[in-house]
Amino acid sequence: MDRAAIVALDKRFVWHPYTPMRPWLASAAPLVIASAAGSRITDADGRSYLDGNSSWWVAPLGHRHPRLVKVLHEQAERLCHVAFAGITHEPGARLAEELVAVAPPGLERVFYSDDGSTAVEVALKMALQLFHDRGEARRRFVALDGAFHGDTVAATGLGGVAVFRKPFAGLGVECRHVPLPDGEAGVGAAVAALEAALDDSVAALVLEPLLQGAAGMRCYPASYLQAARRACDARGALLIFDEVFTGYGRCGTMWACEQAAVSPDILCVAKGFCGGILPMAATLTTAAVFEAFLGDGPDGRPRALYHGHTFCGHPLGAAIAREVLAVFRDERILERAQPKMARIRSAIDALAPLPGVRAARSIGMVGALDLAGGGYLGEAGWRVYQRALERGAYLRPLGDTVYLAPPLNIDDDDLDTLLSIFSDCVRSEAG
Ligand SMILES: *Cc1c(COP(=O)(O)O)cnc(C)c1O
Repeated sequence: MDRAAIVALDKRFVWHPYTPMRPWLASAAPLVIASAAGSRITDADGRSYLDGNSSWWVAPLGHRHPRLVKVLHEQAERLCHVAFAGITHEPGARLAEELVAVAPPGLERVFYSDDGSTAVEVALKMALQLFHDRGEARRRFVALDGAFHGDTVAATGLGGVAVFRKPFAGLGVECRHVPLPDGEAGVGAAVAALEAALDDSVAALVLEPLLQGAAGMRCYPASYLQAARRACDARGALLIFDEVFTGYGRCGTMWACEQAAVSPDILCVAKGFCGGILPMAATLTTAAVFEAFLGDGPDGRPRALYHGHTFCGHPLGAAIAREVLAVFRDERILERAQPKMARIRSAIDALAPLPGVRAARSIGMVGALDLAGGGYLGEAGWRVYQRALERGAYLRPLGDTVYLAPPLNIDDDDLDTLLSIFSDCVRSEAG
């Protein structure tokens, strides 16, 4: 099917995520992607673009890593799906063991679901049911300003971006938002605000450790996580880390929370989990959280977590997720990404002084710049996006925040090209 025919069908029938549809329908030439491999996506006219955002953050190993595709085929020949309630299988059991082996210390149980939102939803329901069953009236959550934890109803309720949350207000969970620490100097004030919010109505604090992705690639110091751990322990609340974006090496270590030497009670992982091949996610817990579900419920029957998805632990996803961990090990992905991270950092540092750059930061395989002042609905980022597309790079912005989050294993030559396109396009907007 040619490009025009695809676009015509799309415009007639499809409704796109996070997309104002009127301008989409009016746009002359939406991007039509026909194939992808490694760090490149290729459109229906055969033009290729360096993928500066790792396929909406899900592809730390690039597109269609050959080992992942091979395992997908092999597993598809044996078992694609079977219920995971009352049944188990080798990929699901072995993946759980392998995840626990690489997880932050103390996380020992794995509950599978479908994507980042459901991984968070599961964490919230675990926390709520745990306190409910204990007879404690802890029903609230605390999250950071600007937070994004997914788009299901409860996860939307944790969201700190008013435009995303407002149409759905009143549904779902009750959440207090606390300020992000403003650099190391702001940690004291942010911790004081957090302690004030963590009263005995709070079930859990939910955070993206070190880096808030969708909030605009905002970083904060590791010392805040250590203080958050102490505050949760002191007040009897659980600590939930959402590493849906920050995990799988994005921040330079397998998990961002490693850099603070802090483990949560519950960890949510998705995105990089299946290397961008299939949607699958997991929620990991400590033994203490798991054991709270081992007793008898108020009705005298054995407790269960009353939650599960049809595709929980599906064998195809589990087989690929195991192979993702194996590729990280065998190809020494984290170690080999370190010099690439340093190059991203120096490219960002070189752009920081430009008059139109309001703030600059980098961590691990992420570099970000705030341009102009329009925030999420700003347009400067989209002008950079357009220019970069013409030069052969895909750099979807977060409003006026432009950023790079390429695959961890991007070739050095491709990274060079990506950084020079990024730098040139930022200079023409902000120079
Ligand atoms: C993307 C994201 C989610 C939601 O994941 P989906 O797979 O889109 O449901 C949750 N938390 C964070 C931090 C994310 O970046």
